[in-house]
Amino acid sequence: MNENLLYKDYDVPQDLQFKTADILRMGGLDCTAQLSPKYFEDIFAAPNQITQVKVSLRFSVASKEILVQGNIAGKRLVQCARCLKMTEQAFAEDFLETYSNKSEIIDIMLLVRQTLSLTEEIRFLCKPDCKGLCPQCGQDLNVAPCKCKPVNLSPFAELKGKFK
Ligand SMILES: [Zn+2]
Ligand SMILES: [Zn+2]
Repeated sequence: MNENLLYKDYDVPQDLQFKTADILRMGGLDCTAQLSPKYFEDIFAAPNQITQVKVSLRFSVASKEILVQGNIAGKRLVQCARCLKMTEQAFAEDFLETYSNKSEIIDIMLLVRQTLSLTEEIRFLCKPDCKGLCPQCGQDLNVAPCKCKPVNLSPFAELKGKFK
């Protein structure tokens, strides 16, 4: 038996500020919400951006605390660090947090934002083996090779000139 099912229709606040009193009165809550990406515009550095966010939450009431298990799933539009192409990627993250029964508000938005900011990788890639752009002519080497001569990247090439 799951009495939480009674509250499937609970009107999830878009700003995810849950009133602790509501959660306690309902004896817990299972809910999902599709959130406007505008809440997350500032999380990634431009041009990367979050385009879709859906949260699933389960509030469980214990004697002194409320346990929140959550999942955030969505889509992000990110620039490849090698070829600069924008690609859309799906992401999904789980989180777990406890709140005191005495706090007035359970601020899930803060938790969601923290979790999302941790998903920003230092270098997004369109695919793990992206060949990138030719540093000389800018040709996208995933599309076709270019005619530039390979640059000598040996660290000794530079030293050779210095010790003449
Ligand atoms: Zn790429
Ligand atoms: Zn080239």
